[in-house]
Amino acid sequence: MKLILLGAPGAGKGSQATKISKEYGIAHISTGDALRANIKEGTELGKFAKSYIDKGQLVPDEVVVGIVADRIGKEDCRNGFLLDGFPRTVAQAEALEKLTDIDVVINIDVDFDVITGRISGRRMCECGESYHISTYKSDVCAKCGKKLYQRADDNEETVKNRLDVYARQTAPLIDFYATRNKLVTVDGNKSIDEVFEDVKKVLGGNR
Ligand code: ADP
Ligand code: ZN
Repeated sequence: MKLILLGAPGAGKGSQATKISKEYGIAHISTGDALRANIKEGTELGKFAKSYIDKGQLVPDEVVVGIVADRIGKEDCRNGFLLDGFPRTVAQAEALEKLTDIDVVINIDVDFDVITGRISGRRMCECGESYHISTYKSDVCAKCGKKLYQRADDNEETVKNRLDVYARQTAPLIDFYATRNKLVTVDGNKSIDEVFEDVKKVLGGNR
């Protein structure tokens, strides 16, 4: 099974991706996570990408297409994979079409005001978990005990840019995949577990 998760920043792609990848035994490919790992390791690619990410801009298409092209050829993707945060532009979607065929695109649809609240209260852990300050009061991860942090690009000004970039560059992908009969939209305003139930209804037979 080859999937794409589409949705604005804060739509819950990461949370759903973790659950889907576990339930269906497919690899989770997050271009955002891959870029942040490069930044953390101080690679050339990381240094290059950081200047874009910190401003809330998209990293150039060639860079992320390169990451994905590499990754989907790896052994752990033989059973399928789920793309989280890619493609984000029509050019990326066209590049992906040349690499492989996608089965389904799940569009997680969330209201704008909900998104802003989610991102500003979001706290992350190195292990991949994320929490929201409204429901989680501790500053260490419940899963692994590490200290939680706020993503550098989760500040108000950068979030504004990211939402703007989403509306201009990524939202057109909804039509792109609808035209190709790949698109299914789920209501992402609900809780993580409720959204996951809806996702499973979509993917049910695909296992
Ligand atoms: P979010 O979906 O919450 O914005 P991500 O972790 O997916 O978070 O992405 C964070 C940042 O990484 C983006 O704002 C962008 O700068 C960069 N990035 C991630 N994926 C891509 C991509 N496919 N194309 C271009 N830039 C990307
Ligand atoms: Zn953790």
